Amino acid sequence: MNHITQTDKKNGRIFEGVLTLNDFARHVPHEIDVPEGVAVLRVHFEYDPNSPPAGGVSHQLSISVYDPAGARGTRHNNNDQSVVLSADYASPGYLPGPIAGGRWVVEIDAHRILAPGLIRYRIAAEWGADSPDSPAPAIAGIGARKRSGPGWFRGDLHGHSLHSDACWSVERFGVDAQRRGLDFAFLTDHNTISGLGDLPALNQGRTHIFAGVELTTFFGHALVLGTDRHIDWRIKDGETMAARVAEIQADGMLFVIAHPRRTDCPWQYPDVYPGPATHVEVWNRAWRIPYNEHALQLYYGWLGRGYKLFATCGSDTHGPNGRDQTGYNIVFAHALTQREILTAMKKGRSYLSSGPELGVEAHTETGEKFGMGQSVPSPITSVSIRTRRAPPGSTLRLLSASPGNAGVRLAHEVRLNADANFEFDQADFTWNTFLIVEIRDADRRLCALSNPIFLSHESQDQE
Ligand SMILES: [Zn+2]
Ligand SMILES: [Zn+2]
Repeated sequence: MNHITQTDKKNGRIFEGVLTLNDFARHVPHEIDVPEGVAVLRVHFEYDPNSPPAGGVSHQLSISVYDPAGARGTRHNNNDQSVVLSADYASPGYLPGPIAGGRWVVEIDAHRILAPGLIRYRIAAEWGADSPDSPAPAIAGIGARKRSGPGWFRGDLHGHSLHSDACWSVERFGVDAQRRGLDFAFLTDHNTISGLGDLPALNQGRTHIFAGVELTTFFGHALVLGTDRHIDWRIKDGETMAARVAEIQADGMLFVIAHPRRTDCPWQYPDVYPGPATHVEVWNRAWRIPYNEHALQLYYGWLGRGYKLFATCGSDTHGPNGRDQTGYNIVFAHALTQREILTAMKKGRSYLSSGPELGVEAHTETGEKFGMGQSVPSPITSVSIRTRRAPPGSTLRLLSASPGNAGVRLAHEVRLNADANFEFDQADFTWNTFLIVEIRDADRRLCALSNPIFLSHESQDQE
């Protein structure tokens, strides 16, 4: 543990210390006793050097602030690590609220410390009775009429604002989602819900912005969708990620393992591999990034081992550029509300697409039809697949379980030259446990992926 010197001032406290390689993946706490009657608290964090002498990659340090009752937020991976807090104003990443007297904690979250370590830092906390910066002006709604009633809705489950490490406001995030023609987009800032306060003002338009957060831990990232409170992203001694996931699910929120094979922050929780997780983001940003194919194969491996899991995608947008080849979630929901979208997602009534439309249906002897996410309780006689707007030269691939639970096998591969309908008969499916459809373009890049239809004859669909 590093040595921290602390200096008390009349209206504040200053900490100076050195972080070493031993502090990597630690939450380094600094305690501040704030007196009663304070109106504004300012915390300034700086460190040097910003990156090691060689290599071109920076250290990654953020601070989180906790008041005597709990978390006030963080501004993950943003260059600006200065915080102003008061009853009705807070810096991006943080929640406004009274400055209660008592023990506050400022933690340095050491997401990345590179050799040789030895980072000198300074935290200056200062309180006062003056009125802080005025609150941001109210945000106007972002557009035209809403859609209502059941239907297929197109949305993005993953994106950031200046409340963490993106360059734009929540309002600009919303305007961009509308420009992309989305029906909905979840705002999922890193480890903070402070941007969610802006959503009610935004949600007068055609594109709905829904509430989420990205748990950005030292051992991987996960989206929590439908967030209505701060969720502790730190897994401390004696706690488990599996228990945290179970709490999140019990509260009705959707937990999604994010970009599990991303090289700089792979998912590494052995008890949630996938354990109680039900959704995996297999397509993060542009498909061509190699970690996406690796994530898809990891997901297939889990399906092959019998987990009932659904796939998601997300642009992970941090600003106006760089969203080519991203996928969107096409969700069949009873209405365009956060609650109904989440209900449909939990049932797997969705597919992933960068453009093509995809329909998959299994038929049974009794004439019943089953779609994506559903479990078919009796033997199927045929599968029909419809595609529209697949790019020229693309291929439709029908995948199913491998014998011996070894992932997936390719059951059929068909060239797609135009909008098409296919029928496959029962001979191919009677022994299988699930089926999935991929559309890949001429360069073998994924451009659509169905969620599974489960062919387990034992389990009934959970409606
Ligand atoms: Zn992430
Ligand atoms: Zn992200």
